[in-house]
This record gives sequence, C-alpha cells and structure tokens, in this order.
Amino acid sequence: MGNNSDNTKLPSNFIKNIINKDLEGYLKSQKIHTRFPPEPNGYLHIGHAKSICINFGLAKEYGALCNLRFDDTNPIKEDTEYVDSIQEDIKWLGFDWEDRKYYASDYFKKLYDYAIELIKMDKAFICDLSADEIREYRGNYDTPGKESPYRNRSIEENLKLFEEMKNGLYADGEKVLRAKIDMTSPNINMRDPVIYRIAKVSHHRTGDKWCIYPMYDFAHPLSDALEHITHSICTLEFEDHRLLYDWFLKELNIEEPPKQIEFARLNLTNTLMSKRYLRQLVENKVVDGWDDPRMPTISGLRKRGYTPESIKEFCDKIGVAKSNSMVDISILEHCIREDLKDKTKTVMGVLNPLKVIITNYPKEEVEYLDAENSRTNQQLGKRKIPFSREIYIEKEDFMENPPKKYFRLYPGNEVRLKHAYFIKCENVIKNESGNVTELHCTYDKETKSGTGFTGRKVKGTLHWVSANHSIKTKVKLYDYLMKDSEEEGSVINENSLKVLEDCYLEESMKEAKKGDRYQFMRHGYFICDEGNVYTRIVSLKDKWSKIKDKK
Ligand code: ATP
Ligand code: MG
Repeated sequence: MGNNSDNTKLPSNFIKNIINKDLEGYLKSQKIHTRFPPEPNGYLHIGHAKSICINFGLAKEYGALCNLRFDDTNPIKEDTEYVDSIQEDIKWLGFDWEDRKYYASDYFKKLYDYAIELIKMDKAFICDLSADEIREYRGNYDTPGKESPYRNRSIEENLKLFEEMKNGLYADGEKVLRAKIDMTSPNINMRDPVIYRIAKVSHHRTGDKWCIYPMYDFAHPLSDALEHITHSICTLEFEDHRLLYDWFLKELNIEEPPKQIEFARLNLTNTLMSKRYLRQLVENKVVDGWDDPRMPTISGLRKRGYTPESIKEFCDKIGVAKSNSMVDISILEHCIREDLKDKTKTVMGVLNPLKVIITNYPKEEVEYLDAENSRTNQQLGKRKIPFSREIYIEKEDFMENPPKKYFRLYPGNEVRLKHAYFIKCENVIKNESGNVTELHCTYDKETKSGTGFTGRKVKGTLHWVSANHSIKTKVKLYDYLMKDSEEEGSVINENSLKVLEDCYLEESMKEAKKGDRYQFMRHGYFICDEGNVYTRIVSLKDKWSKIKDKK
C-alpha cells in the first residue's frame, strides 16, 4: 500500500479503455497528453486531488505528459495566492508538470484572433441584449429559444464592434460576443452561447491590458488545442457542453482535435466541497483559514496530518466512474490508518488524566521498562519507558460502580498496565464535592511484562504514563465540520474542535518534532504541531472495515 500509484498499473477504467482504443486507432504511434486545469479562485480540495491523480496518473502510466494549466479567464474571483497554493499542493501530492505550466491568459491574444475568425465566417455576432434578456430569449428544456434581434448584423459591423469592445468603448454588460449556432437546439448550450464579455477589472497576470474576457466554454477547447492535449478529462457537469466544445474545434478547423471525456466528481459524506462554499467558511471565520485541519482542502488535510500516499491511495481505491455517487468519508480515514500503521511508533499518552498512587511501590524508585515501538513493524525497534509510584491513567478507565463486562479499573479489580505490571484498585480518594481525585492501588512484582508470568489472567489492559516523567501537552481533537443527517442535510457541526489542555505523554516524546506522527495507544494517530501541541489525524475506530466486512 502507499506507493501503489507509482509502480503498479492502476485498475482498468472506462477512461483507459477509451485511451487504449484511441492509441490503436487515430492516435497510433502517438502519445497521449492530458492537463489539469484549475481555476485559481480558491484552494484545491480532495475532489481536485482525484482529478490530479487521474490526469497526472494517466500521463505517468502511459509514459506521457500532463500539463498544469490555470484556467484564469474570470479575473473577478482569481488571485495569485491561489496560483501559489495550487502549485504547492500538486507538488506535495508528488506530481510534476516540469516546464509545462500554462495559463489560459497566455492565450488571450490567440483566443481573440480565433473569435475574429468566427466573426469573419459569420459564426459569431455582437449582441446588445442584457444578461436577463439573453436568459429570457434562451428558452428552456421545453421551449425553443428566440433569435436575438442583433443576430443579423453584418460581418463588418461585428468586427468593428468587437474591436471597440476590446478598446474599452462600452461598459460591462453593454455588449457581448455570441456564437451563432442554433436557438432551437435541444441542447441549451448550443443556443448562441456568449463567448466574450466585458469586465473592466484588472487581471492578476495581464493587468489592464484586456477588458474583454473569453468565457470558459470558448477558452477551454481552444486552450486544449493550443497545448495539443489529446484527452481533456473533466467532470460530468460538462457532459452537456461537449457538443459546444466540439463545435468550436470543428468550426475553427483544429487539426487533431482534443477529445473531452467526463467522469463523476467526488462527493464525500460529511463534506461540502465547492470552492465557493469553502471560501464562505474562510471569510466568515467559521474555520481558521483554507488550511484549517477540518477543511477538505489539500492544505487542510496536510495540516491535519494526512500523507500524500494516503490521499493517492484513496483516489485509486474509489476509482473512476461515469455516474455520480457519494463516497463514505470513512474510506479516506481507512487509507490514512493503513498508511500510518507500519510507519509510526505507538506510544502512550493520557488525554484525561486521573492520578494513581501505587502504594506498595518504593517512593524514590524509577524503573525503565522495555516497550516495543510497533506491534506490526519490528523494524521500528524498542524504547525504554519509566515506571514509578505515581502514574496517570485515563479517567474513562476507572468506574466506581461499573456495569457488567467492564474490564477496566474499579474497586477491587485488577488490570494490566501495558508494558508494566498488574495493579489492583484498593482505595478511591474523593474531594469534598464527591469527585474522584486519586486512586490508591497496589502492584504485584511477579506480574512484570516480558517475564512470562502466567499465574493469573486479567481482562483489561490500560495505557498510562509515569507522572513525574511525563510531558504535559495540549491535544486538539477534530470532528467533522459538517453533520450529515438525512433529515437535515448538511449542517455545520458546532462542536467540531475539542481542545484538551492537560494531557500527559510518556517521556520518550520529548524527542518529537513538528510534523512527526505517532500512534497514541487506544486514541488514534496524531501529528506533532508547534509548541508541544498535538492534532489527532484520525481515531482508531475503523468504520469502513466494518462496512466492508459486512458486504
Ligand atoms: P468547485 O466547484 O469546487 O469550485 P471547480 O470544478 O470549479 O470546483 P476547477 O478549479 O474548475 O474547480 O477544477 C479543476 C479541475 O478539477 C476540473 O477538471 C474539475 O472538473 C476537477 N474537479 C473539481 N471538483 C472535483 C471533484 N469534486 N471531483 C473530481 N474532480 C473535480
Ligand atoms: Mg470551475
């Protein structure tokens, strides 16, 4: 697991079937060429990771190339902050566009020339209808559209008006350039779509050079063509736009036109993915920025402690399909657990401490016990952990009046301390308000772990830390940002962050550095953050394995 996408072939899917056929047919003795075309209007999310894995993954598998192209045709929402973060995220995932980083804005002049070509062929016209009027004229699924009264302007007039639009003579919305196709087409995208609009806003790359900008449907096929893309892979919502995509390529006589293939976008339970929505969360300060560990962004997942391998494995696992579906977020969680299982040391940390005094253990004595670092990976070696008279255990591991089948600590019961001894609860100490503040226990020297003691058995094993040797830390436990219930739909979970201020980790954790990952026994996987703060990446409860086993 983990490096799957690097050295073994991914399972077959419908996109690969199309590509294989094309390579036997019209692409014979050629290479495929893909691209990943983000719009720099937000940070990338896990859905984009799927698209990145498909596009860069196909290139890798076919020994071909994948371009990075910023689809920056809408200056109103775009920003260089996003351009930078997008590149960082793709690199972090382990993909490389080499020297092929392009921007749709690089092609503004060429796209403008293509538009003029269309006008000259009488395939495009300047329209003075307002946006509302255009919508009204367009009709809908049941009603055919009506032709614009400006549709029959002469080529000369259209050329002159288009140039004037470019030169800034008109206000935003006053005029648009539209393709002249068919107002009665059953496909609404073919009803004389707008291909250029006026927007007097500075562009993050071209500044004020242009005040007209091409629409996505026009810019995309032609940008693909200019980069000699063979397969333009996009999400299903563009299926109805394919006819238009092909129309531009055909009318403009593009040789070896790219082929658009649509796949189902990734939807995850407990997750809202659109950039527009994620931006609202950031702007309304519901989260701590785009990289908040609760965000489904790649930077958020990185901060949460996810590895690139786990995300790529997830994308491989869910596969590529042609129809929309909802993926259970527990699959993503399963992937990070699987990835970290053999890579991380298992250590002990007490998150809700309860003091235990081992009354028959000598006061000044400290003993260093052997502890294996991993149950599944011997190569991670061993460490020594201190044991002494005062320890902390989890509050949840003690009950004064336990129900049946409670195998942890209660008055008179004996449990095993992991890597150490059996202890027995002799006395419960409470404060004035009746809350338990301390337990007095005794230990049995004969039961030391690793000595082969078989005298008697106990059912519960607890983790613990030596009080005087432990390291006090703060721990952040995250829950889903979105509740996902059938009745309510998606609503914000108000309790998605729980901070525990008084946690205690075993002594060996003093070596931990920012970015190190560990398994805390019985609590899950954690990543070390700044200043002795730990973030839980994922708990140990594997909901997905349970679902999977039932199937
Ligand atoms: P959003 O709706 O989140 O803003 P978008 O489609 O507008 O997403 P783009 O930057 O235009 O975002 O997307 C870049 C590429 O990533 C496109 O090819 C798009 O189809 C793909 N993509 C976006 N969201 C998903 C998703 N949830 N699953 C798979 N691919 C996606
Ligand atoms: Mg988009």
